[in-house]
Amino acid sequence: MDHAKPAAQDTSDTLTRLRCEIDGLNSELVSLLSRRAQIALEIAGRKRAVGRPVHDPERELVMMASTLDRNPGPFSNEVVAHLLNEVVKATVALMNGEERSTLTVARTQNSKDTIVTVKGVDVGAEPVLIAGPCSVEGEVQVEQSARFLASRGVRLMRGGAFKPRTSPYEFQGLGRRGLELLSCAARRHGLGVVTEIVDPRHVELVSAHADLLQVGARNMQNFELLKALGSAGRPVLLKRGLAATLDELLHAAEYVASHGNTRLVLCERGIRTFERSTRNTLDVSAVPLLRRMTHLPVLVDVSHAAGRRDILADLARAALASGAHGLMVEVHPCPAVARSDAQQQLDFAEFDDLLSTLRRPMPGLRLDTCPSLAAPADWRMKGP
Ligand code: PEP
Ligand code: MN
Repeated sequence: MDHAKPAAQDTSDTLTRLRCEIDGLNSELVSLLSRRAQIALEIAGRKRAVGRPVHDPERELVMMASTLDRNPGPFSNEVVAHLLNEVVKATVALMNGEERSTLTVARTQNSKDTIVTVKGVDVGAEPVLIAGPCSVEGEVQVEQSARFLASRGVRLMRGGAFKPRTSPYEFQGLGRRGLELLSCAARRHGLGVVTEIVDPRHVELVSAHADLLQVGARNMQNFELLKALGSAGRPVLLKRGLAATLDELLHAAEYVASHGNTRLVLCERGIRTFERSTRNTLDVSAVPLLRRMTHLPVLVDVSHAAGRRDILADLARAALASGAHGLMVEVHPCPAVARSDAQQQLDFAEFDDLLSTLRRPMPGLRLDTCPSLAAPADWRMKGP
């Protein structure tokens, strides 16, 4: 007797077989994609080795057209083009990831933290404090500042001689004379000099007076300046741009490094957001992220981040707690008459308060007094 399978059983067997086939095709697709990616990476490596650009959009157009010519359906060319485009995008991202790991400033290139020595101060090793007025305004102002800072144990003094100001009618700095006043006062008191450079033609001039050349936020992507600093015989302090991503900051640093100067220090100084209570928003997460992304020292300028005095101590603690290698703070003998950034500069008494706050243990960070956080170190291992 012919025992034909019932139709339902037959359908179920066929479905199982077809599903197996789909599973097999999925595995094949994944291995084809992986193989494609491996070959693309090999091509990228060979192109890099001979200095050719990795990405070739012309070739992509030709490849896409010839692939679509052979599309057997049932997917339309639009659908296949979309899928292929996703594959190409993922491959380009993979290639860029490879490129990132080859940046000399990337953490992958050096698992040890880089230490940049500035006038005997090991930036990246010990917490450093760079302090001083926003702008160099006159002989008395810088002399009073240098004497005060030296008396408080500060070893690196800042002060702007070339000031990039929003308005051309605002104080632009004393220029060459400012450099001379700053460096004389700093030398008299044994301080290292940190000052901003705004023009690639000034490398020699500013280097003659400064121990650390600052690239301001507004110039972070002034590529000609960055390239010129590659041949400066001085270390560079590169501030993060007002709206720059961390990736852009690292690439800006790479400009200096790839042009010959690897003595680099990065500085988070707040980014522009919708918040108006502060001049900028201090991006605290930039600190631990940069510490992971790069081996370069990372400082935080709390003054330009906040644009006000009252929260500087809290921001400074947050910066140090998040792993910053040091701070930049603006200090002026009489902020009320400062020719720039009057609202954010500390006077000497306020600076003393900041120092004593920083030296005190942090209230609220006594984890041992918080029962849920004071559990034994191996609490995660224990069952209920
Ligand atoms: C400065 O430090 O003097 C300055 C202008 O800061 P920023 O470039 O971060 O605005
Ligand atoms: Mn300032």
